[in-house]
Amino acid sequence: MLYLVPTPIGNLEDITLRALRILRETDLILAEDTRTTGRLLAHYEIDTPQRSFHAHNEHAVLNSLLAQLQSGARIALVSDAGTPGISDPGFLLVRACREAGLPVECLPGPTALIPALVCSGLPADRFYFEGFLPHKKGRQTRLKYLAELPCTFILYESPHRLQRCLQELAEHCGGDRQACVCRELSKLHEEHRSGNLTELQAHFSAKPAKGEIVVVVGGKRE
Ligand code: SAM
Repeated sequence: MLYLVPTPIGNLEDITLRALRILRETDLILAEDTRTTGRLLAHYEIDTPQRSFHAHNEHAVLNSLLAQLQSGARIALVSDAGTPGISDPGFLLVRACREAGLPVECLPGPTALIPALVCSGLPADRFYFEGFLPHKKGRQTRLKYLAELPCTFILYESPHRLQRCLQELAEHCGGDRQACVCRELSKLHEEHRSGNLTELQAHFSAKPAKGEIVVVVGGKRE
């Protein structure tokens, strides 16, 4: 069995009892960064062995992991924060397991996009998750696509790219489109700043953002 185990996105209390039990009971934990996961495991006094599993080795270790799973190992996959497979490694391993007929289970748990969407005050009945925009090739195509969506959409962004992101969103969607910048979810300096794209761009130009960021943008009005 492969378990995908969501881990806290800031507040260490945001982990389920089941996630802790699975991390304790599995034979191996695949971690994006073993030092980061090591701190979480130490906090909860879990001593399950870890192995690195990240964007740079996921192809190379795939076959040996499938062999371990086929011989009956119980393996948990975690990322540095949130749900594995959501803008984090996981997809390749899950697809390979499913193709090989191996059971996969994803525990419900933390992810940054849902609290950002729900707190944004923008319609949450339908939404589109973009994740990170490409930095260069394909960026304008994605922005054009997003600008036409009739539902709320969600982007992950780093603080030093936020101003450019808001500026380009304003160019494509119009400066009066409503949005919300959600920072540091579940952490001490959590902030949700709502406004139109022009207002948000002006605010974050005057006061550059720090920390981790989710940008939620309202859909195009019909
Ligand atoms: N797997 C994660 C999830 O389920 O949300 C996402 C991992 S992705 C590499 C990291 C990005 O998620 C950050 O750059 C930021 O955009 C967003 N993020 C993660 N934690 C956050 C937090 N506490 N507050 C705001 N955004 C966060």
